[in-house]
Formats: sequence, C-alpha cells, structure tokens
Amino acid sequence: MTILLIYPSARRMAQGAFSGNQARAQRYPGMGLALVAALTPPGARVTIVDDEREPIPFNSGPDLVGISILTPNAKRGYMIAREFRERGVPVVLGGMHVMACPEEARKEADAIVVGEAEDTWPQLLRDFGAGAMKAIYRSSNDNDLAGLPVPRRDLFRKGGYITVNTVQATRGCPFDCEFCSITSLLGRRTRCRPVGEVLEEIRGLDGRIFVLNDDNVSQEKDYFKALFEGMIPMKKIWAGNASWNIARDGEMMDLLARSGCAGAFVGFDSIVPQEGLKKVSRAENRLTLYKEAVRGFHKRGMPVIGAFIFGFDNDDSSIFRKTLDFAIDSGIDAAQINILCPYPGTPLYARLAREGRIVETDWNEYRTGHVCFEPKHLSREELFRGYVGVRKAFNSRRRVAGRVLRTAFLSSPKVVVTGLAVNMAFRKGTVDLVKKLRAADRTRV
Ligand code: SF4
Repeated sequence: MTILLIYPSARRMAQGAFSGNQARAQRYPGMGLALVAALTPPGARVTIVDDEREPIPFNSGPDLVGISILTPNAKRGYMIAREFRERGVPVVLGGMHVMACPEEARKEADAIVVGEAEDTWPQLLRDFGAGAMKAIYRSSNDNDLAGLPVPRRDLFRKGGYITVNTVQATRGCPFDCEFCSITSLLGRRTRCRPVGEVLEEIRGLDGRIFVLNDDNVSQEKDYFKALFEGMIPMKKIWAGNASWNIARDGEMMDLLARSGCAGAFVGFDSIVPQEGLKKVSRAENRLTLYKEAVRGFHKRGMPVIGAFIFGFDNDDSSIFRKTLDFAIDSGIDAAQINILCPYPGTPLYARLAREGRIVETDWNEYRTGHVCFEPKHLSREELFRGYVGVRKAFNSRRRVAGRVLRTAFLSSPKVVVTGLAVNMAFRKGTVDLVKKLRAADRTRV
C-alpha cells in the first residue's frame, strides 16, 4: 500500500500563487504526520509532502492520501483533497481544524480522523485494507503516551528546514486561555510521555539542535525538571515555549539553562489584565513580573522571544504605545506581535459568535495578521494599523541591530546567529505588511 501524507500550505491559499520563501528561521515541521507515518504498519510505503516546500504529486497514484489541516490551511487542504478524489484516490482528513469543524471536513473527504492518531489511524488502515473504511474515526484524545513510536523524521525533505528535530513530551494544558484551542480540543489534563522515552528520543536525534514543541514547559514542574536534568549530559541545544511565570522558580530556570535551552518563546499575551487570560494576583505588578522574568532568562544566558496579542476586549488605542514601551524596556530579544484570532473550536470563537462579532468567514484569513472580528474599544482598522505600527517601530533596522548586539554579550555565537535570523524574519514580515498597507492607502486615494 502506498500512502501520501500532506501538509497543505496556508501561504499558497492566502496569497494566491506561492509567495516566495518562508524565512529559514521559521522552518521546522510539526511532528503530527511524522508520528502518523510511524504508526503505519511496516509494509506500507509512506511519503510526506510539505506543500510549502515541494510540489504535490497529484498524478503519483497513491492508494490513500492523508491531509492534516489547521484553520488557515483548511481551504488549501480541501482543494488538494478534491484533486485527489477526482482522480479516484480516497482521502482522509485530520488535524486541529477537523477537530473543530468535523461536519465541514466530512464533506471534503472519504474519512475524517477527529483527534489523536494512536487509537484511530491503525484501525482506519485495517478497515481500508479490508475495503470497509468508515466515514469518521473519533479518538478518545486520552491515549497513554507511553511507548509511542519515534516520529519518521527521515521522511521530511532534506535541507528544507532549519531543523527537522521537533520533539514533544506532553499533550494538553491545565490553563484555559480563551483564545487557545489546546484545552478545549485536547483536554485540561496534561499527559506526559515517560521521561526516559523522551530522553531516549532526544539522544537519538541527528545533530545537536532541536525544538521542544510542547505548548508550555512551565507546567508539570517535577516532570520537566526531571526531563531537563536528564538532558544536561547530552549537551544538546534547544528552544521551546514557556509561560513567563516559569521564571519564578529559580531551580527550574537553572535546569532550563543547563539542559541547553538557547532561548525561549515566552507568551506575555497582553500587558494589561484581560478576561480569559491567566491572572496575576492583585498585589503584584504585572509589568514588574514580566520584566523580572526576562531578567531571569538573561541572567542565565537565554534570550527571550516575547509574544504579544492585540485585540482583547480591554484594549483601547493606548495599548499599542504601552506594549511597545514594555517590549523595548524589558529588553526582550525579539517579539512576535499578533492580532487576536478567534480560531474555531476555541471558547473565544464561541463567545464572539454569540455576541455577533465574528466578521470574517473565510478560513484563509484566520491568521494572526488579520482582524477577523469586531474589537470592543477599537475599530477594525485602528486595530490593524496599531498592530502594524508596533511591528514597524520594534523591528526598525536600528532596534534590530541594538538587540542583536546585546544578545552577543549575553550568549554564544550560535544563539546570536539565531537571534539575528529570528529578528530578520520578523522584520521581513513587517516590511511586507507596511508595503501592503501603503499600496492599499494609494488605491484608496
Ligand atoms: S495559551 Fe498556552 S497556557 Fe494558555 S491554554 Fe494554550 S497552551 Fe495553555
């Protein structure tokens, strides 16, 4: 049996023809399809195609196609599905968007997988082999994560990514940030793979660099402390996602640094209190805590990419200046600046739909650079222009150069190069946005 697994590209669909290269610093694959490939019984020939990097072999005649979709690439995924089905090739759809919108996805596939692959994919393949594939395979989303096979990283195109070494140790999150789909789709209970198995997988990676793709390494402290401790002798270099409050635990921070963490992506989300976000106690000053967190990382030689979101209900026109001032004063090394996006399946989408505030129905536009809803205290245009303004000011040539120089004092040459690449990637995205905004203004005049 030959199986073709496909990641559709969101950029091809969102911007018509394929729009140049994604910055190298942003290229590493998710492990979903590599794990699906590993769960496929031996004997089947599996290929993974990343639509972002290589052409889809529509006429290669596979026995079965599996497509993994998120909301921004859902329409591209459906288009690819139609092409194969027109050629008589059965298509299976899975991924987070299928979990959020199963009825929609069902119309575009011969079968859908709602949820995790471990308790669905092997059964689907058995049924397919027997000529009795069902229309829906629904996971309990509660699979025991012990004994998972090693993802088939060997199936990713060589040289297409900064690294193919993406590792995931846990699933689920105990927090319930309103905009995030992790808790609503995968559950509030964090499931952890056995530490020994994760360490074994990391030890076996080709090369020293990897991405720890867990949604938040600040939770399950005992678990992550044991994992970081086990990583120390391996002398690997990694980056991952953390919540700012990880910096409150000095022991955890020391282990993080000693385990080879070369930088963290830290979600500050908003610098003012917002409903539906993690709270800080009234006695504590949010900005002071955030700045202390950045200092905690820097003190141990770890740069910080801070993530901010604009468009929450408490945001008014002052939020942009305040956030820019904080981003500069705090000394973060790069910033990912986003517009709040109400992805389907999240509590945020449900609430805004109830309130009649969802204005965008095209999934192609469900990106963090587009306003899909009616903000509360800003117009949609004010939100978009404020967002572009902060990106532009933070990513000016002078500020990027200053930040990279500072990183040079903080960390190793490898980290400096990565910091430069990340900053340049954010700067390039910003320059493109500003050009588009100017072109739109010119056509309006
Ligand atoms: S945003 Fe992060 S902390 Fe919040 S629910 Fe999602 S994964 Fe958890």
